[in-house]
Amino acid sequence: MHPTPPQIAGMNYPQPTPITVALGDGIGPEIMTETLRMLAAAGAALVPEFIEVGEAQYLAGHSSGIGPEAWDSLRRTGILLKAPITTPLGGGYKSLNVTLRKTLGLYANVRPTRSLAPAVATKHPVLDVVIVRENEEDLYAGIEHQHTPDVVQCLKIITRSGCERIARYAFEYARTNGRRRITCMTKDNIMKLTDGLFHRVFDEVGREYPDIAQEHQIIDIGAARLADTPERYDVVLTLNLYGDIISDIVAQIAGSVGLAGSSNIGQGGALFEAIHGSAPDIAGQDVANPSGLLQAAVLMLRHIGQPVVADRLHNAWLRTLEDGLHTADIFRVGQSREKVGTRAFADAVIARLGQLPELLAQPVAAVAPIAPAPTVPAPAAPAAQRPPVVQTLVGIDVFLRWADGTPDLLGQQLTALSGRNVRLKLITNRGVKVYPDGHPETTCTDHWRCRFVAATAQPGPPPTYPELVFDALLDLQQRLSAAGLQIVKTENLYLFDGERGFSLGQGE
Ligand code: NAD
Repeated sequence: MHPTPPQIAGMNYPQPTPITVALGDGIGPEIMTETLRMLAAAGAALVPEFIEVGEAQYLAGHSSGIGPEAWDSLRRTGILLKAPITTPLGGGYKSLNVTLRKTLGLYANVRPTRSLAPAVATKHPVLDVVIVRENEEDLYAGIEHQHTPDVVQCLKIITRSGCERIARYAFEYARTNGRRRITCMTKDNIMKLTDGLFHRVFDEVGREYPDIAQEHQIIDIGAARLADTPERYDVVLTLNLYGDIISDIVAQIAGSVGLAGSSNIGQGGALFEAIHGSAPDIAGQDVANPSGLLQAAVLMLRHIGQPVVADRLHNAWLRTLEDGLHTADIFRVGQSREKVGTRAFADAVIARLGQLPELLAQPVAAVAPIAPAPTVPAPAAPAAQRPPVVQTLVGIDVFLRWADGTPDLLGQQLTALSGRNVRLKLITNRGVKVYPDGHPETTCTDHWRCRFVAATAQPGPPPTYPELVFDALLDLQQRLSAAGLQIVKTENLYLFDGERGFSLGQGE
C-alpha cells in the first residue's frame, strides 16, 4: 500500500511497515477492502502481503486453516491484520485463531472498549475498560480426553511463567497508557491451584508496581459488577476463558460487539482482528459494519508506531458515528440519520479525515494519550534459572473405569490390592468422596479417582505425606491391572518444597 500521505505541517511520516493481511471469509473481504481503503486515505505507511487462511485452506486439507506460504509471510512481517474466517462445520478442524495465538506466542489478548454515547446507544455512557486476557493457556490449551463411556475431561493448564508474563504485561500496559487500576478476576475460591496461582502471581508482580491500584474479585461477582457498573473498572486482567466471555459482555454493553477490535500481542508478533465472526448471513450484500476491523487496524497502527494516523482514523470514525451515518446493525430510528452500506460508511469516514468528534466528551488523542507500542516484557526466566524446588513423590491418583457395584465394594477390593508400601486413602467420584464414609445419596458415574499414599501417611491435622518411590506405584498399577481393573488415567501426587501440589477431594 503506497498512498500519497496528506501533507500536514510538522507530521513526520514513518517508513512503510510490512504487514500480512488475511481477507477472511463471509463479510471478511468486504470489510477488509474498505478498511484498507480507509487506512490508505488516512496516510498509513504499510506494505501489505496478502495470505489466504480460513475456509478454503481447511477444505484444501490444512486442518488448522492455514498453509505453509502464509506462515512464511507471518514470519517475515510479524504483524497480521486478519478479517474473520469461517470454520467449516464437522469434526477434525482445529481453530485457526487458537493455532495462530499459540504458534506465534501471542500471549496477551488486549481488548479496549469505550462507550460511544451519545453517538451509539448504550445503557452505560460512562465506560472505558481494557480487558487483558491471558491468551495461550487455561482450558483453551485444547487437551481433552474421553476416559469412559460416561466421562470426558478438559485439562486446565496454567503455568507460573505464563501468569508472570501476562501480569507483567497488564501492569506495563497500565503504566504506558496512563491507566490507574487493575482488577484481577479469577475463581480461586474453587480452583485453588490453577486460578490460585494466577491470583498469587498477580499479587507478586503487583508489588513492583505500587503506582497502580490493585484489587482481586471472584469472576462471577466481578462479571456481574462489570455488566452493572462498568464505570468503576479500568483494566481487568483475567484468564483465557473468563476473558473471552467478559470481553464480549463489555463490548456488547458499550454498544455492539460489531464495533470492537482486539489485539493479540507476543514477543514474536501481533495479530489484530475484529471480535465478531464472518457473518455469512449478510456476506456480499454491502451491509456489514467495518468498524470492528477498523478498530483493530487502529490498534495495529498504534502498535507499529503510527499513532498520528491511528488518531486521525479513529477521530474520523467517531465523527461519522456522531453524524448519524450508521450501518444496519447499529441503525436506530430517531437516533441515526442515515442507514449506509459498508462502502458508503468507509466513504463517510474518509470524507471526515482531519475532523474531530464534537459530541463525545473529548477527541481520542486527548482521552487516550498517544501511546507508544505497549511494552512486551521479556519472557520469564526459564525454569532452569529459577531457584531449585524440591519435588517429592508422595502418592498417586488412579482413575478407573468401573461399574460393578457400590463404592464400598470397590474400596474393599482396592484396600486388599494395596500392598505393603502404599494404602488406599480415599475414592472420589466427580471429585466427591465416596469411600470411606461416603453418602449413599451421591450420584456415581463409571469414573473413579482412587488416591493411594504411603502406608505410613498420617491423616493429621496436618496430614503427613512420606516419600514414595516410583516403582512402588508401578507395582501397584500392575496388581490392579492383573486383578482385571481398567486404569484409564493416573496422576502422580507431589509435594513442592513440602507444599501439597494436588487438591483434596471434597469431603477428604
Ligand atoms: P458472527 O459474529 O459472524 O455473527 C453473529 C451475528 O452478528 C450475525 O447475525 C451477523 O450478521 C452479525 N454480525 C457480525 N458481524 C457483523 C458486522 N461486522 N456487521 C453487521 N453485522 C454483523 O458469529 P457466528 O454467526 O456465530 O459465526 C459465523 C462464523 O464466524 C462461524 O464460522 C464462526 O466459526 C466464525 N467466527 C470467526 C471468528 C474469527 O475469525 N475471529 C470469530 C467468531 C466466529
